[in-house]
Amino acid sequence: MYNITLIPGDGIGPEVAYTTKKIIEATGIKINWDIVNAGKTSYEENGVLVPQCVYESIEKNKIVLKGPITTPIGSGFRSINVMLRKKYDLYSNIRPVKSFKGLNSPFKNVDITIFRENTEGLYVGIEEKINENECHAKKIITKKGSRRIIYAAFEYAKKNNKKKVTVAHKANILKFTDGMFLNEARKISLEFPNIEFEEMIIDNMCMQLVSNPSQFEVIVTMNLYGDIISDLCAGLVGGLGMVPGANIGKDIGVFEAVHGSAPDIAGANIANPTALILSGIMMLDYIGEVDRAKLILNALQEIIENDLGKTKDLGGFLSTDEFAEKIIELIKLNKN
Ligand code: ATP
Repeated sequence: MYNITLIPGDGIGPEVAYTTKKIIEATGIKINWDIVNAGKTSYEENGVLVPQCVYESIEKNKIVLKGPITTPIGSGFRSINVMLRKKYDLYSNIRPVKSFKGLNSPFKNVDITIFRENTEGLYVGIEEKINENECHAKKIITKKGSRRIIYAAFEYAKKNNKKKVTVAHKANILKFTDGMFLNEARKISLEFPNIEFEEMIIDNMCMQLVSNPSQFEVIVTMNLYGDIISDLCAGLVGGLGMVPGANIGKDIGVFEAVHGSAPDIAGANIANPTALILSGIMMLDYIGEVDRAKLILNALQEIIENDLGKTKDLGGFLSTDEFAEKIIELIKLNKN
């Protein structure tokens, strides 16, 4: 029996979170879900943005499946998502972007894993209003913060037989901050002589990603660049409904989709749950339930690749619930 925290979140969050929960349960795994919520819905219901029970649950269970959270403007928090990553030092944001056959995309063989530094960079949120006409923001890069995410990327490449790691930077302009990140990447790359190391300026990388994405395997970069290229890469494989993520620290893992709360489609039962289902698969791998992870992945692939049904964002007609039912049917069939 596993104890796992489930944060449904806001907007389409509850739809995709409960769908993912059902799909994970269809594998037969025994999970004691601790369901706690934070964000806009929590604020509207209880007047608290992040109730104490959320922190307690995360600290007790250490494994979290999380829907997208909206932070209302003027609530005292800049971003609850960023706060949680920082509070629990979830420095490694891992975002695998992979093509499924059968999706309407000009790119067929995308298989890129983005390692985004998750606790530093411009996301530290140190801003200063100098006067009505001038504002400043601080970018924080440390050697320690850089080294641990770069190591994570190389270790992942080694473990998963990836041939190349590309570091994305803007060290030609930001000589101290990006320069230090790049320099650490150069040094660490020498410890992995069997993995090709490549350096690329972030603007060039954007162009390369939309013209020849299959040249990339593992990308490691700083916080803001990683966030932007994640959405760009989502566009290569069918959109935001397709890209999962994991936020990993020393002993806590928070698994969540790259997409936000999508308020424009919330409550309509048309959201694509694939991104959070794939995040759930990453979670099962993380806790060692690799066979169950594979069972879900196979079902998902079989449905999408054989055109057995898709949600609206992928050009299909299925509701969130109908899509989930198809996955569950297949899991149950393949399980026995
Ligand atoms: P945030 O600031 O939290 O990232 P956002 O509105 O800028 O929020 P998303 O919530 O990620 O960004 O939504 C961007 C667009 O992608 C919206 O049009 C949304 O409907 C669509 N979208 C996002 N996730 C999904 C999904 N799972 N299924 C279908 N469409 C989605």
